[in-house]
Amino acid sequence: MKPFKLISELMEMGIFASMNQNIEENVALKIGEKHGFLLEIKHRGAPVPQLTAKEKEVVKLKKEEEDEVKNLTPRPPVVCILGHVDHGKTSLLDAIRKANVASGEAGGITQHIGAYQVDHAERKITFLDTPGHAAFTKMRARGANITDIAVLVVAADDGFMPQTDEALKHAQNAKVALIVAVNKMDAKGANLDHVKNMMQQRNIAPEDWGGETITVPVSALKGTGISDLLEMILLQTDVLELKSNPKAEASGTVIEAQLDVGRGSLATLLIQRGTLRIGDAIVCGTQWCKVRAMYDDKGQTVKEAPPSMPVRVIGWSGTPESGQTFKVVKNPREAEKLADEEALRVKKEAAATLAAEPTNVSVEQLFANIAATQAPIFKVLVKTDVHGSCEAVRHVLGAIKSSKISLEVVSTEVGLVTKNDVLMASASKAAILAFHTKLENGVTPLAKHHGVRIESYEIIYELSDKVRDMLADMLPPELKEVKQGGAEVRATFPLGKGFVAGCLVTEGKVTRNATARVRRGKEIIFEGKVETLKRFKDDANEVRAGLECGIRLDDFDGYKVGDLIECFEIQKIRASL
Ligand code: GDP
Repeated sequence: MKPFKLISELMEMGIFASMNQNIEENVALKIGEKHGFLLEIKHRGAPVPQLTAKEKEVVKLKKEEEDEVKNLTPRPPVVCILGHVDHGKTSLLDAIRKANVASGEAGGITQHIGAYQVDHAERKITFLDTPGHAAFTKMRARGANITDIAVLVVAADDGFMPQTDEALKHAQNAKVALIVAVNKMDAKGANLDHVKNMMQQRNIAPEDWGGETITVPVSALKGTGISDLLEMILLQTDVLELKSNPKAEASGTVIEAQLDVGRGSLATLLIQRGTLRIGDAIVCGTQWCKVRAMYDDKGQTVKEAPPSMPVRVIGWSGTPESGQTFKVVKNPREAEKLADEEALRVKKEAAATLAAEPTNVSVEQLFANIAATQAPIFKVLVKTDVHGSCEAVRHVLGAIKSSKISLEVVSTEVGLVTKNDVLMASASKAAILAFHTKLENGVTPLAKHHGVRIESYEIIYELSDKVRDMLADMLPPELKEVKQGGAEVRATFPLGKGFVAGCLVTEGKVTRNATARVRRGKEIIFEGKVETLKRFKDDANEVRAGLECGIRLDDFDGYKVGDLIECFEIQKIRASL
């Protein structure tokens, strides 16, 4: 991997490493794992007994446990609500919040800070209240999986719709626990069984139908079923055994950030590990902060924020980006230094990206993707002008078959290529194919930034041909030997400590450093590189047919008169599908 990529991935893990710094084994393992590799770690000196992959996993887990197990305590779950537009995500978030306010204990005025916490059965639950998967995808694209449980809202009178399926796919890709809330149970035409049937068709059969997916009928409008939903979320939380170390220095993710005219930059932070306190110094990407004040979702000041709590923080050097991870460091000086270093790195990276050909970036990424999945898969996200084109594109892509690489169509949709498509492509490591459609403003720089390849086509055959080419480009090239020339050994001469073969070049040419074989009759005696090539006493780079020369391959000495020396060139040719 390119160092800056590695550094930024480490940062996302909360580790601020410089270019030539050692990293912990478990960190290296994690990075390896993320890219589909299992690292074998050997220590200098001590030979390590070979462990199987399973044993290694156990060792690794044990190590992490030893680190912190005594400090780990249960933490509230972080829940997001996904689903099709108008199925009631916003209403449900409001209903949950209202139900909680009505329960008495709350004070202050509700503030929309991007997330809120409710109490249920004397336990807390954190909800991300930017509904819709745009926010979810954005977080994922940055590698921040902050959600533990996704509540998929399905309207009882409408069933699964395209965005429901898309949201489901996102949740499954991110491997978060899933709960289905069947909303609008009060509505005319509400049909719970119909929804359950659709769940079964999607391999997420509800529990009462023999499946594993918790399904809760609710009405956000009437406020019914809300407490059941919270109950089920807590049940799922117990299954997940969510834990964190509250004693550590805080780290987590920015949920939302903006510039406020009166108060300067505001950022809502979700604490994922440790406890954040007033006065703490935070570094977050290119920004840093000395926590001047913290507010909860009711606008009340808090002094401490434990794991899973969202808090709005003021005291920033500038506005951090949502989705970015943050970390508490020793002191403001350290925070400022790290933020400055990061700013410099970002600047350099931007310059490097500009300098590099955009295709290089994405091809590199494609190769990384192949390595990560082992069996190469080329993922594409398709956007077209009309539904008919969608069909046509799907048809031609379906016709591309190869045993060496597979083509996966992540989605086909009608419309412009949007920024959200780019984030989704980046999250699922896909390229975007635009057929008869244009790019929304700002898509190109964003794609460049995320290394997402976007290809536009107007003609269907062209699309099909180009995709074939892209697939072929991803395969390792096939190596082919091309005979360059041959020479016959006429005599042997001593040279230095060994012998050279005195030859007559009989065909083509013999070049220095070419791959060559010594053939005696049918037998191949030696294979190596043309190390020495001499015309009389002088070194030559190339000797053509009809001329005499001295040849020596590597340190081979055993030439006999009559041997043939054949010279090859190894050519790389593009693999066929
Ligand atoms: P979102 O787009 O998923 O956030 O959906 P909204 O929360 O904006 O709701 C869309 C529409 O559905 C609004 O007109 C709501 O009043 C209505 N709605 C939401 N929940 C319910 C419900 O439980 N029952 C009924 N009958 N209507 C609902």
